[in-house]
Amino acid sequence: MSAENVADFDLVIVGAGLAGAALALAVADLPLKVALVEAQAVREGWPPIDESVFDYDARVSALTEASRSFLEGVGAWSDIASRRACAYTDMDVWDGEGTGRIHFAASEVKRAALGHIVENRLINASLINNLRENGRVKCYFGTPVDTMSRHQGLISLQLAGGKIVRSPVVVAADGANSKVRDWAGFVTREWDYHHHAIVATVETERPHGKTAWQRFLPEGPLAFLPLPDNADEQRYCSIVWSVKPEIAEQLMLLDDDDFCRELGAKFEHRLGAVVACSRRFSFPLRQRHAADYVCDGVVLLGDAAHTIHPLAGQGINLGFQDAMVLAEECRRACDRGLALSDTAVLSRYQRRRKGGNLAMMAMMEGFQHLFETPAMPLRLLRNTGMRWLDSALPLKRQIIAKAMGLSDKPQ
Ligand SMILES: Cc1cc2nc3c(=O)[nH]c(=O)nc-3n(C[C@H](O)[C@H](O)[C@H](O)COP(=O)(O)OP(=O)(O)OC[C@H]3O[C@@H](n4cnc5c(N)ncnc54)[C@H](O)[C@@H]3O)c2cc1C
Repeated sequence: MSAENVADFDLVIVGAGLAGAALALAVADLPLKVALVEAQAVREGWPPIDESVFDYDARVSALTEASRSFLEGVGAWSDIASRRACAYTDMDVWDGEGTGRIHFAASEVKRAALGHIVENRLINASLINNLRENGRVKCYFGTPVDTMSRHQGLISLQLAGGKIVRSPVVVAADGANSKVRDWAGFVTREWDYHHHAIVATVETERPHGKTAWQRFLPEGPLAFLPLPDNADEQRYCSIVWSVKPEIAEQLMLLDDDDFCRELGAKFEHRLGAVVACSRRFSFPLRQRHAADYVCDGVVLLGDAAHTIHPLAGQGINLGFQDAMVLAEECRRACDRGLALSDTAVLSRYQRRRKGGNLAMMAMMEGFQHLFETPAMPLRLLRNTGMRWLDSALPLKRQIIAKAMGLSDKPQ
């Protein structure tokens, strides 16, 4: 291999999705040589922001206050907030099979909002634009990593086109089907939810009231997440509809009018009729968790370490917390003159992140089973429990704080 074809770094991040790009920005100002490698071409500037069901990104994230504050800390939030984000003030959750209902309000915890719904492409554009402006991270875009090998304490990644990047530490932020994770031999525990999530943007007859709506059905949860619009008519929502794969297949085959009718009925017409719908996408849902996050200089981040049911919208929120903690550990190592590959540095990251991620995944699994079970005693328990919880303000405050990624103490 010729010397000009090889580049050496202190840290290489594979994957410029939300988690990888956020980590790159969070470590950009450290005294480290960092590279970010992304398989896909990455557009320059901002995505167009028009207003119709066809122009919103079908992939959105419900960002917690903890994630918003992390994005603010790395300088990526103000650009997002000034373009398009919906601060939602309320959340309405109800049992599709009974009378149980819980309403959460930001006012109950003396906050202006419970969180923000933001299109993924906007978050990504803000992270990448800030990285480009900063200029300290070497970006290789449109160049997938093809192979990985190890030699004398360095991990070598061969990129499409022949370039080789080497580093003692490689972060796998290459998503749920991470190749870097598999090449490094990490063990994962995974299982199929037997659910597919259909996502789309819809227009509704009545305004969403800056409320995130979720109906739990035995076949899976259905969420309507409020989207922002300039005139504040509040008619656009992003939907996440989890159903069995065979039902998803049928729903995907419906024409738009029939799909809107089915969707409106399943949502009990809480926002009136569903009047229009964008192109739909369907994702199979698998839960996956790596037994370890660190192995011989390779570190797992975001969906490469854990994928979780989208019912509580926590996936990228966990990924941003991973990025924040890993960046903190890199900073700590630099301050103390430690090499990033020092086992103590990376194992601190694993220790700080694994327990919390596992707990959130277990909670989501519990929720899914609770609402999937049609047996009468559980249905009664669910409905009585939800009604009781709705009136138990101190406990509700703790749940809201947890869901916002804040401390358990009421605000
Ligand atoms: C239907 C649905 C709804 C969701 N809603 C929410 C929500 O409301 N809130 C929330 O917090 N989370 C939500 N999630 C989860 C969230 O979308 C994911 O957790 C998040 O996108 C994962 O980000 P990531 O950066 O870890 O991985 P990804 O977004 O998958 O990024 C991985 C990147 O790595 C690149 N890559 C892959 N292979 C290579 C390679 N060989 N070389 C170089 N680059 C490579 C890919 O091109 C990609 O850019 C939802 C998920 C689903 C399926």
